[in-house]
Amino acid sequence: MKAAEIRDKFLSFFEGRDHLRMPSASLVPSTYDPSVLLTTAGMQPFQPFFRGEEEPPHLRLTSCQKVFRTTDIENVGLTARHLTFFQMLGNFSFGDYFKQGAVEAAWELSTSPTGFGFDPEQIWPTVFGGDEALGIGPDEEAIECWRAVGVPDERIVLLGRDDNFWQAGPTGPCGPCSELYLDRGLEFGREEDRPGDDTERFLEYWNLVFMQNFLHQDGTLTALPKQNIDTGLGLERMAAILQDVPSVFETDEFLPLVQLGESLSGHKMGESQEVTRALRILADHGRGMTFLLADGVVPSNEERGYVLRRTMRRAIQQGRKLGIEQRFLGLLADTVIEVMGDAYPELRSQRDTIQKWVTAEEESFGRTLEQGERLLAEIAQRAKRDETSWVAAEDAFRLHDTYGFPYELTKELLAEEGLSVDDDGFEELMEQARQVARASGRKGGADGHERVLAFARSAGFHSRFVGYETTEWETTIGALERENGRYLAKLPESPFYAEGGGQVSDSGIVETPTGSAEVTGVYRLGDDQAVALTKKDGKLEVGEPARALVDRETRLATMANHTATHLLHQALRDELGTHVRQAGSYVGPDKLRFDFTHGERLTHEQLAKVEEQVNAWILESHPVRAVQTKRDEAERLGAMALFGEKYGDVVRMVEIEDVSRELCGGTHVASSAEIGLFHLTHETSSASNVRRIEAVTGAGGVELFRRRSQQMADLAAMLRVPEHDVVSAVDKLQQQLRDAQQRPRDDDRALAESLVSGAQELAGIRVVSQVVDAPDAKALLELSDRVKQTLGDSAVVLGTAVDGRVHLVANFSDAAVQLGLKAGDVVRVAAEVTGGGGGGRDTMAQAGGREPDKLPEAVAAARVAIERGLA
Ligand code: ATP
Ligand code: MG
Repeated sequence: MKAAEIRDKFLSFFEGRDHLRMPSASLVPSTYDPSVLLTTAGMQPFQPFFRGEEEPPHLRLTSCQKVFRTTDIENVGLTARHLTFFQMLGNFSFGDYFKQGAVEAAWELSTSPTGFGFDPEQIWPTVFGGDEALGIGPDEEAIECWRAVGVPDERIVLLGRDDNFWQAGPTGPCGPCSELYLDRGLEFGREEDRPGDDTERFLEYWNLVFMQNFLHQDGTLTALPKQNIDTGLGLERMAAILQDVPSVFETDEFLPLVQLGESLSGHKMGESQEVTRALRILADHGRGMTFLLADGVVPSNEERGYVLRRTMRRAIQQGRKLGIEQRFLGLLADTVIEVMGDAYPELRSQRDTIQKWVTAEEESFGRTLEQGERLLAEIAQRAKRDETSWVAAEDAFRLHDTYGFPYELTKELLAEEGLSVDDDGFEELMEQARQVARASGRKGGADGHERVLAFARSAGFHSRFVGYETTEWETTIGALERENGRYLAKLPESPFYAEGGGQVSDSGIVETPTGSAEVTGVYRLGDDQAVALTKKDGKLEVGEPARALVDRETRLATMANHTATHLLHQALRDELGTHVRQAGSYVGPDKLRFDFTHGERLTHEQLAKVEEQVNAWILESHPVRAVQTKRDEAERLGAMALFGEKYGDVVRMVEIEDVSRELCGGTHVASSAEIGLFHLTHETSSASNVRRIEAVTGAGGVELFRRRSQQMADLAAMLRVPEHDVVSAVDKLQQQLRDAQQRPRDDDRALAESLVSGAQELAGIRVVSQVVDAPDAKALLELSDRVKQTLGDSAVVLGTAVDGRVHLVANFSDAAVQLGLKAGDVVRVAAEVTGGGGGGRDTMAQAGGREPDKLPEAVAAARVAIERGLA
């Protein structure tokens, strides 16, 4: 049974049991779930349903979800069953069927001849065996369910908290689980092996999670009001079983990838453990990287970008290990697209983007490898010099941190030189770096969020956002929590926008007959919301009628910026290519900031073109409207789905007529003309491969224009020219400045030339002894150096007067010194004539004097001294 058939069999089986088939969500989780970097389980996109923040479209769902587990990256290639990227099939129940329903369905699909057709005697379920710390015993209910479908007690294995209790975080919904293992027989292990042993004989293929508890901060466990089912079955593991191959890497979706690795390297799977592992990593990482790129992740040094970069670099490194000389990531990606493109059309539509990043990363890592290898050679040399075989952790860490050099590779290469690295020290540095990253990445107030969530839940009703249509609404204070002058409130209808999709929260006022308060925050809770208020006058009471007023001026400015962001996005794609994707944004009343994936700095021409295009669209006055539509309909219309789009079947699509379509929950102006004007203010890099553009629109743009005009007027006044001549006036000034700086240098050169041409030769030594015009002693010395160098074998004496003081220098070449001349002696003779003294080395000496009038006489005396010395 091919992987595609397994996928369809599973989903159809559950559709036949009244489950709604959901498409796979992106590997990049929704922007509203910042707690995880990448989707790691089928249930993740459904979190809002499990937490009760949103209504699921149906009480029973089924899906085949793309997942990526960085935690398993080290396992890849070592075990027969671990991958980073894999596909998780699942069935989900929200307060509908529970343990019995889940067990029965899993059993039937596993054993039925029209299902997977396993021999029931080879299936071993595991069940939660209880845990003292949690204060609960074995999951008797689950044991009963397995007995009921006919599994004898000796094949029901009880396991502890680590294996069979599921929790997403330190607190929150959780519960026991039950895993299905298939006994693959003695050829895969030993007689005494059992499920949970972490060997290959018993292969875990399906996990059934019974979400029935809530784990609190203090460690206590309470029952959830509604019990949910979440299951996960690994498609690749099932394929390995059904295709009767020893590992996931021999299944139909993997073979072409492994074969590509074999033909590129000339090695064969099974040749040695090392080769097998490397070929497996190549195949797995090739898939992982291709799927991450298709979902809009780009290689960088942060967060998911780093996961991707690490995946790609490990693949390259394994390729090198196998002796592959050529660039190969692109070939790997193409094979992945070929094999998986039918099931995941995004791979085909993103092919160009995928290839672009793959090429860029392979090239940049190629350079990194060269630099890193140079540094490595230095480290090795230093160790040899210091006669040690120990490499400091800092060195290895620097390679990792600065050059992105995989630690494993560092170790391998150093080992070839007989050196070893301080592993513990390295791990310590890594941990420090992680802590720094965590501390800076954490957004404050998780506690606050919990409190708001609890408040909203206890209110018992949902707030409807009416702010798309209006900025003013008559409503009531539906729920209120007070805390010295500050309130947390819920309005049945609220015109206040809650921060999301880059757009900032609205500000405004809530007025009741007894008082008024300012809106100081709007919390987004799934599609629900709550507002934070600060008291202005009187006081607010729950149940009172209330007028909710959005601050119109800031809202209008924000809307103009938001629509402008869409125009900018489109203009960038038109100008740079469709690899451009939104990677983040800030849309406020003051400005907009747009981060997008692109590898290099934009040229002036590109920026000018983008700005011009956006302004043209503004002037053309395109109508803007938002429509609710089916996700697939929006995709068919070519709507740009944002990075980490929120999950859901019905989506909101913002359409700027004849310009762009984007899935977006933000507020927009009704016509592009309302933006007024658009001006780019900054273009910088935000992270590697992510560029950042900042811009202003409308009133903000006018304000900027006014300030600039004033500056221009000031400049013109300072330069005493009309405004249109400012540039040429500055140009002229700069030219004058350059001339002024150039002149002394020209003069110096002319002076040196005339001294050189006036030299007289005596005994092979060219002699110069002259009074010159120099600004100071230093310039005099430099001049004598230049003359001496030009002349070659020479003796140069120069004298000058500055502010009534005499400076003398004697500068002799080695040849002159060898003939018996001493600069110190000669300069002293001259200095004495001007009433001073000095001295120095044989080749160079300086002196001073008090009688400038005697300078001609002094240099003549010096010339006589030289002639005498050479005679
Ligand atoms: P294991 O103990 O083998 O790592 P797990 O307990 O981490 O598995 P779950 O988190 O319960 O697995 O995931 C549900 C199912 O997804 C598993 O039963 C298995 O079929 C599959 N699965 C889990 N991790 C991987 C992986 N790294 N590669 C391929 N399939 C996996
Ligand atoms: Mg695991």
